[in-house]
Amino acid sequence: MFNSLSDRLTSTFKNLRTRGRLSEADIDATVREIRRALLDADVAVPVVREFTGAVRERALSSEVSGALNPAQQVVKIVNEELVGILGGATRPLTLAKTPPTVIMLAGLQGAGKTTLAGKLAHALKGQGHTPVLVAADLQRPNAVTQLSVVAERAGVPVFAPHPGNTSEADDPAADAPLIGDPVGVARDGVAYAKERQHDVVIVDTAGRLGIDEVLMQQASDIRAAVNPDEVLFVIDAMIGQDAVNTAKAFADGVDFTGVVLSKLDGDARGGAALSVAKVTGRPIMFASTGEKLTDFEVFHPDRMASRILD
Ligand code: GDP
Repeated sequence: MFNSLSDRLTSTFKNLRTRGRLSEADIDATVREIRRALLDADVAVPVVREFTGAVRERALSSEVSGALNPAQQVVKIVNEELVGILGGATRPLTLAKTPPTVIMLAGLQGAGKTTLAGKLAHALKGQGHTPVLVAADLQRPNAVTQLSVVAERAGVPVFAPHPGNTSEADDPAADAPLIGDPVGVARDGVAYAKERQHDVVIVDTAGRLGIDEVLMQQASDIRAAVNPDEVLFVIDAMIGQDAVNTAKAFADGVDFTGVVLSKLDGDARGGAALSVAKVTGRPIMFASTGEKLTDFEVFHPDRMASRILD
């Protein structure tokens, strides 16, 4: 991911390195190349406009530092602006003062929510937490089974509607909700966690292939029912320019608190994913980089910017 963007920016800066001083024309030419590289990488147009505007202004106002030559100065500015569009500082997970912490996952079908549920549970378990997964995706017949498989792999229990309501086979949770009511499942899942003193509840919700009102309403109802500490919007970094509209729709529909970029291991151009934090004003918190439980990392805007400019 980002290889081509990274190559383009690096070669732009290489051309600058031969210059002793940068004229306004040099800066404009550089900014034009940066603009083209970002657009070709699928970064959303308004984000590109703001980004290049800021770089140009700062480069022209020559925040000259004695230690850096003009080319290094431009790289530094681009780096800082990249960190800015990626959300600035690393944003850690909010944990509830009184457990359990409730984390709800939202996103389109196939975005990587179920996979993420396992990764997040696995990571939290490694930190000494006792997460439980809640299967509130009742849209697809396979979703509950899939989450159970993921939970088993992560070594955590799953709360799901009948049949097979819990991984604790000798404890069939007689109060399990009816199939078909995801809001009820989510609410009961949180109650179940409280009862058993699980300190984190991860609620997987249904996705659709495209945005639709029923899906949004359902996600919004689940949100209202379980009052989550975090609502993580999972987005497939490979979906290109659609990322921005999808992210905006989810920001309006479910008001998520953070973004998870999934499939960052792919070879897509990735720029649309880069726009998501900026256009929604929500931080990117995690990155998913493969199908294994451990292909998961906390997202650090500064490290990602450095990787792109490396
Ligand atoms: P959901 O419908 O949002 O729950 O999506 P899933 O978690 O079922 O993921 C959809 C597909 O994408 C599955 O085949 C996953 O194995 C795959 N997947 C999920 N996350 C990643 C990732 O970070 N990298 C790659 N390469 N594949 C992923």
